[in-house]
Amino acid sequence: MDPQLIAQAVALLRAGQLVVFPTETVYGLGANALDPAAVERIFTAKGRPPTSPLIVHVAGVAMARSLALVWPETAEKLAEHFWPGPLTLVVPKRPVICDRITAGLPTVGLRMPRHPVALALLREAGFPIAAPSANPFTRLSPTTAAHVRESLGSSVALVLDGGPCEVGIESTVLSVAGPEPVLLRPGMITREQIEAVIGPVLLAAEAPPGAAHLAPGQHPRHYSPRTPLTIAGQDALPAQGRGVFLFWSKPASASKSILLPKDPSECAARLYGLLHELDGQGWDWIAVEPPPLGPEWQAIQDRLRRAAALGSASLN
Ligand code: AMP
Ligand code: MG
Repeated sequence: MDPQLIAQAVALLRAGQLVVFPTETVYGLGANALDPAAVERIFTAKGRPPTSPLIVHVAGVAMARSLALVWPETAEKLAEHFWPGPLTLVVPKRPVICDRITAGLPTVGLRMPRHPVALALLREAGFPIAAPSANPFTRLSPTTAAHVRESLGSSVALVLDGGPCEVGIESTVLSVAGPEPVLLRPGMITREQIEAVIGPVLLAAEAPPGAAHLAPGQHPRHYSPRTPLTIAGQDALPAQGRGVFLFWSKPASASKSILLPKDPSECAARLYGLLHELDGQGWDWIAVEPPPLGPEWQAIQDRLRRAAALGSASLN
């Protein structure tokens, strides 16, 4: 990426403006995390409710430590192992992180992204960047700059185009703020991979009630295309209207059928792009075959349940 564009983006962020930038998960709508007025603009641009905390992006562990009141041993190990990458660590926050970012919680979600443009931006800025996905609230996250321009268009000062996102769905969110680590949102870094580094991890549904593992902003309907989406086998497709069936095992006879990648990483990378595309084609419905089972499919299962507004035990 042109260093001049990065410098322009940093100047805008410094001036309190919003900048869209690519990360390996999805495109982010960024503001200087240390500027409460700029952070406020994110909520306005997205129509995001104030109860939904923002992830703060950092250039490295040193910056993460400067924002965390406590930086537990587990956070250190996980950062060493998975950063830069699609893992958000929730830790107790310092006062420098305003309550608006954390939806009033005493904790903050921190992540060092691995996309070269995101890293260049963070390094050049020298300050942390608060950024949710760059889409209107409840809509599909953008995985290309074109998706962002279609949905947020004029409300942002600059969109940095870094090509299609490599991971394609939102980061894994893990709280290490309490006595036991809790998985708040599944992602392509799986619970099993995390457990291999730090030992047992609870799922949000297993955490004791009242534990400091709140995961606000986890709305059952999220990540939705405008076209109604259902999860259904090929023998249970909607009877009315024209639809598309997305499948792994067998196409349906009566509708347009699209084969999804059998590799979970490839599927995640393709999923939102495909849904964005289908959303523009005027179908009456999109049906998706129940995803394969297994830990590496957990994040895709979660996102599809939310896209279908079925809710889920976990998050966002
Ligand atoms: P996104 O919309 O992809 O930026 O994801 C933000 C999500 O991360 C929120 O909706 C929460 O589910 C989670 N999150 C961020 N900060 C925190 C926090 N301090 N505590 C718990 N969950 C958080
Ligand atoms: Mg989002």
